[in-house]
Amino acid sequence: MTLADPVLGGPALPQERRLVTNIPGPRSLALAGRRHAALPAGLASAAGVYAAAAGGGVVVDVDGNSFIDLGSGIAVTTVGNAAPEVVARTSEQVARFTHTCFLATPYEQYIEVAERLNRIAPGDHEKRTALFNTGSEALENAVKYARIATNRPAVVVFDHAFHGRSLLTMSMTAKSLPYKHGFGPFAPEVYRAPMAYPYRWPSGPQNCADEAFAQFAQLVDSQIGSDAVACVVVEPIQGEGGFIVPADGFLARVADFCRDRGIVFVADEVQTGIARTGTWFASEHEGIVPDLITTAKGLAGGLPLAAVTGRADIMDAAHPGGIGGTYSGNPVACAAALGVFDEIENGGLLARAREIGEILTVELEAIAASTDIIGEIRGRGAMVAAELVLPGTRTPHRDAVAALTRHCHDNGVLTLTAGTFGNVLRFLPPLSIPDHLLIEALGVLRDGFAAL
Ligand code: PMP
Repeated sequence: MTLADPVLGGPALPQERRLVTNIPGPRSLALAGRRHAALPAGLASAAGVYAAAAGGGVVVDVDGNSFIDLGSGIAVTTVGNAAPEVVARTSEQVARFTHTCFLATPYEQYIEVAERLNRIAPGDHEKRTALFNTGSEALENAVKYARIATNRPAVVVFDHAFHGRSLLTMSMTAKSLPYKHGFGPFAPEVYRAPMAYPYRWPSGPQNCADEAFAQFAQLVDSQIGSDAVACVVVEPIQGEGGFIVPADGFLARVADFCRDRGIVFVADEVQTGIARTGTWFASEHEGIVPDLITTAKGLAGGLPLAAVTGRADIMDAAHPGGIGGTYSGNPVACAAALGVFDEIENGGLLARAREIGEILTVELEAIAASTDIIGEIRGRGAMVAAELVLPGTRTPHRDAVAALTRHCHDNGVLTLTAGTFGNVLRFLPPLSIPDHLLIEALGVLRDGFAAL
């Protein structure tokens, strides 16, 4: 099959919403047919269209339809698809060498990515960075570092958490369907505390931070025993869980508690990190300095790269050969990450993320004024969500989210869902999206609410 023009992506693509066929179009339908014959059913995709090119704020499909991108490939193409610095640096690196394996013959690009992450991560202590391929792998390794540094087994995580699909990270993830159901037995020594989720806290948001902290502390001190806990792992804003922003002060109290007891505090910034929330790391909004931070997604503009960045004393505790992998810190992915850092720094993208957040929030609040099913709008920077509920209740309204997502896809806007109850619309536009597309996309969503 030959793909429809244009085949070149990047910000030069026409920045427009354009539908030229039914959705999905004939070429996408043909690919769907081949996919069903060749791929297993457990691989699901949110959209029914197949990508041909992307850049700025659009994804163009194989039929030539141009969609406004409000998902960034699940928070990955933060600097935009085929961003100029990423294309330039990776093209040069591909032509130079594609792989030597850092464990065999090391190279400078890996060190430079580590230096830059060490520089931007919160805290002025001495830091180290190790690179991996995926978010899950970074989390696995954060736990390995915490365990070897503390000589303790237990890992404490939270309700609504998502940390990955490998055995350990699936065990750390909260939601059964679709992530865990039927895939057990799970990894041992994983314990779960309530998350300080203000909108759904049983006794009301005003009690949320205090009561959630008390329950967390009780779990660690009296049920597990703090001297058995290697680490507490938490997303500063829970991503897949529904963009849950923990109650004010909760994370800082958890971090202080960990410091008092020699527990490693790990911030999982796989979804929130690298400019997404308007700062390099979402931890900065809370004034916390994590012992270890995991990043992935936005780090390398779509090339597989992940990192653990943290305290030198913890990360130097692992013995030579105990950490790494064949592809970890691949030189092309490292080149992409260096391009991402340049795009963010030279393009003023931290401020742009905050601006996008303001536009999204204003537009969503205008929609909320005309409907009674938006329970809460929340998030930070270019990471904003709307939680939908049945009118006059807090009962999750999953059907509305499904209908609105379908409406957006059918009308040229790519959106994503989230939430333990599947009732959250989440917005993660690339920071390269122009204002007019953002506003047009929210107009499509507004029509969807009107049509419900
Ligand atoms: N942690 C968080 C917070 C995530 O959002 C994700 C991915 N959604 C992961 C870990 C796992 O990352 P990956 O899919 O790259 O393994």
